[in-house]
Amino acid sequence: MQLFKTIAGLRSYLTANRRQPQGTDPIAAISVGFVPTMGALHAGHLSLIRRARQENDRVVVSIFVNPLQFGQNEDFHSYPKTLERDSQLCDTAGVDAVFAPSTAELYGTSLYATEGNATEQSGTEQMTGRINASPSGVGLPVQSAYRPSLTQVLPPEAMMAVLCGSVRPGHFAGVATVVTKLLNIVQPERAYFGQKDAQQIAILRCLVQDLNLPVTLVPCPTVREFDGLAMSSRNQYLSTEERSHATILYRSLQAAAQLFYQGMRRRADLIGAVMGELVAVPALQLDYVDLVHPTTMTPLEQIEDTGLLAIAARLGSTRLIDNIVLRHRQPIVAIDGPAGAGKSTVARQVARQLGLLYLDTGAMYRAVTWLVLQSGMALHDEPAVAELVSQCDLRLAGSQGSRPSSGSELGQTAPSADQESSQAQASVATAQSTLQVTINGHDVTQAIRSLEVTSQVSAIAAQAAVRTELVKRQQDYGRRGGIVMDGRDIGTHVFPDAEVKVFLTASVRERARRRHHDLKEQGLIDISQADLVQAIYERDQKDSSRAIAPLCKAVDAIEINTDTLTIEEVTAKIVSLYRAHQS
Ligand code: AMP
Repeated sequence: MQLFKTIAGLRSYLTANRRQPQGTDPIAAISVGFVPTMGALHAGHLSLIRRARQENDRVVVSIFVNPLQFGQNEDFHSYPKTLERDSQLCDTAGVDAVFAPSTAELYGTSLYATEGNATEQSGTEQMTGRINASPSGVGLPVQSAYRPSLTQVLPPEAMMAVLCGSVRPGHFAGVATVVTKLLNIVQPERAYFGQKDAQQIAILRCLVQDLNLPVTLVPCPTVREFDGLAMSSRNQYLSTEERSHATILYRSLQAAAQLFYQGMRRRADLIGAVMGELVAVPALQLDYVDLVHPTTMTPLEQIEDTGLLAIAARLGSTRLIDNIVLRHRQPIVAIDGPAGAGKSTVARQVARQLGLLYLDTGAMYRAVTWLVLQSGMALHDEPAVAELVSQCDLRLAGSQGSRPSSGSELGQTAPSADQESSQAQASVATAQSTLQVTINGHDVTQAIRSLEVTSQVSAIAAQAAVRTELVKRQQDYGRRGGIVMDGRDIGTHVFPDAEVKVFLTASVRERARRRHHDLKEQGLIDISQADLVQAIYERDQKDSSRAIAPLCKAVDAIEINTDTLTIEEVTAKIVSLYRAHQS
């Protein structure tokens, strides 16, 4: 692992590491995963690093306590700084490069120019009395924080007006500015952030979209102590008594969640439930408890499908935050696994038995392949394909009609729990045979199964722009839940918040045996089982290391090895996982 303190050093390292040997397959391009932190690393940070390690060829972690996001009376000066220990932890976790710049390296002298002092000092000395940010009437941080000589990034006012933004003026402008700078320096394919800072994720998502930054943000679940306290670098400030009181934050959120899952949806009731628990710790000074939409940060009077219940409070001088997402939707079942593990067969069966929609992503990739072939453009003209695909009108429609109020033409009426079994009998919209696929007004249901499409679909699916566009559309289809989907990274990337995640595996030998059997059934057996073993092994390697959609097991996925199981047995296992989740 290498430690860089300068932008020049890190950039040079990244340039050298991204360089591809001539003629290398672009699918195998070097990917960089980035984890921005303020250091004092704990298991929460390490979970982000672990995830980045799984999904990228190179992992960069930044350690930088950003003065721009601290208020005047906040803990900038006392924030724990443990670079040596952090570097060791990063090294052990398989990080390739740590970027730990000084304030001057990252901001130059522009941060202080208005104070008439443009010379470099240590970050701590310089920060004395700084960054007294609060929103002015026009939405810019007030003059004392706004640095005329520093270009800053200002997120939407409405997103900063709630939760931490309402009590930490200027904080999110500081976060947005530093994250934009760091993303520009590292230029990662993926950047990893903790759900613990839910408002930060929402604001950064908006930033990435509004500024067209070429990065995928990956939200990661909150890691907690054994008693539920969300891990935080600030927990070490707590006295023994405060530490025991601190568990009330998560307990109060859980109390509200319990009522939510019993049907309570209203803001007043949910916040009331939290407050009812908090009275048990009089020492707690509450900053806020609020219920907002997790993406837009709009305050909610009632949860329609999803709400973010968030809390911030002080114990002594330590400020703690926590949140939970309350989701009211039919579950999403994500089935990932290596090629040949039986995913799509099982996914179809599961969908049929539960009366859910099987989202046939293969049909989507086939439809755009058909469109590209029809257009006559060269298959490998990626920019032209990207233009075509991002403007196409692609529709999948089940023969049972549309899901109510989903705005989607996909699938059948989502059954309520008590309708479920009868729906399961009646529903055939999950079967491939009944799925109608149209693209730009052409019914391509049959045409996408042609040999020509079959032989070209993998080349089209390997293009980053195609994948980005189709994943976006898949996520739109899945927003209201009630779908089953299979692939390589459904549970980690497409639906990281899927309620039921399964990782289907089978040994290479068993998958080779099944493939051999299938080929034999079709009268096509001019490949030996031993060659199939080798081919499947190589495919696994390629799928796990590819830059686009690498095969990845979600940490919260249940692994099912299908070596000794029939399709019916695997299906039954997944159906029972679903039912257990529902009950
Ligand atoms: P910080 O060092 O506090 O700025 O955090 C760096 C990243 O780690 C942010 O994306 C945080 O959301 C994330 N993070 C902090 N604590 C946790 C936790 N307990 N679980 C998961 N992620 C976390």
